[in-house]
Amino acid sequence: MVDPSIITPLAGWRHPAQFFMSEVDREIGRLMRLAIRKEEKAARLRAARCDGKPRYESFDQAAKMADLARRRHGAKVSSYRCPDCGGWHLGSAMWD
Ligand SMILES: [Zn+2]
Repeated sequence: MVDPSIITPLAGWRHPAQFFMSEVDREIGRLMRLAIRKEEKAARLRAARCDGKPRYESFDQAAKMADLARRRHGAKVSSYRCPDCGGWHLGSAMWD
């Protein structure tokens, strides 16, 4: 029978392959977190530029509304083609 006290000092010891695997695990975890963050960012952008905004079917329509808003409110408004819904929205010049 082996005395367990001889083994316990080695409890923290890991085979080099285990270090490698934990590195791989960390890298995979990092990449997955990055992918999730990227998706969250895309969703936020979508929400900011599309969801809940009036949608115009044509550039002319959107440009007319942008012009109206500029003249009425002096707001810096411009129209932009929405990459998400394919329509046109009004917004600050962020997406131009
Ligand atoms: Zn849209």
